[in-house]
Amino acid sequence: MERPGRNDLCPCGSGRKHKRCCLPHEAERRKFAVLLESTALPLLTRLARFAESAAEGGLETVARDEFPFWKGRLDKAQGARVVDFLMFDYRPRHFGRRTVEQFAVEVASGLDPAAREMLSAWVDAPRSLVQTEEWSGGFTTCVDSLDENVVPFDVFDVQVEWRPAPRETAALRALAVGGLFICAGRPIEFAGRSASDVADAMRRRHLDYVRTQRIVSLGDFLKASPKAFDEEAARPPAISTIVLPGA
Ligand SMILES: [Zn+2]
Repeated sequence: MERPGRNDLCPCGSGRKHKRCCLPHEAERRKFAVLLESTALPLLTRLARFAESAAEGGLETVARDEFPFWKGRLDKAQGARVVDFLMFDYRPRHFGRRTVEQFAVEVASGLDPAAREMLSAWVDAPRSLVQTEEWSGGFTTCVDSLDENVVPFDVFDVQVEWRPAPRETAALRALAVGGLFICAGRPIEFAGRSASDVADAMRRRHLDYVRTQRIVSLGDFLKASPKAFDEEAARPPAISTIVLPGA
């Protein structure tokens, strides 16, 4: 294949010029691809198998018990979310800690240094609320909507290719791979709600939690309530009750 010129359309399909899209990131993304294949994917696959075998009753049972607000059969994105939940949020009774923490205890010493470093960063990776900026070559640039001091970061979805439009709202768990990030399942989407609307809803939930349960930071609330974003996304949208004449 001929190499695209700087002013040609980028071969990734973003619709922008190559020099304004993937060209400046080429070296970084080549390094990422190598790290993804050699270290991140094998580690994630191992963790997913470990999590599925630790889940009491299997995937469907966990989905039914933990996500009762989902109606009907699991779709692909929900299936990926359950696996993400099992890996990073779920606490099997026989472990007494989250699956990823147990996994780290059991396997970390046998991992090579690159994988061990990756796993220790993943153990506490939070789920965050983001607004999307642009898509390029499989990566979505995201800005954290709950933390004003965060620089944009690029996320690659390893399971379902995620290609949101600019300024969409989503919740995802970004796992560091080199200087870039992956997410293990399709991010949670909020059906057209703005990032500030969802952020306000999260702050209200946090305040309720502080009033009724205990005093914690917003970050600790999100850790203690790993399904808060899922519940918010499953909430039926407010429907206008105004009936137009003649309708
Ligand atoms: Zn591109």
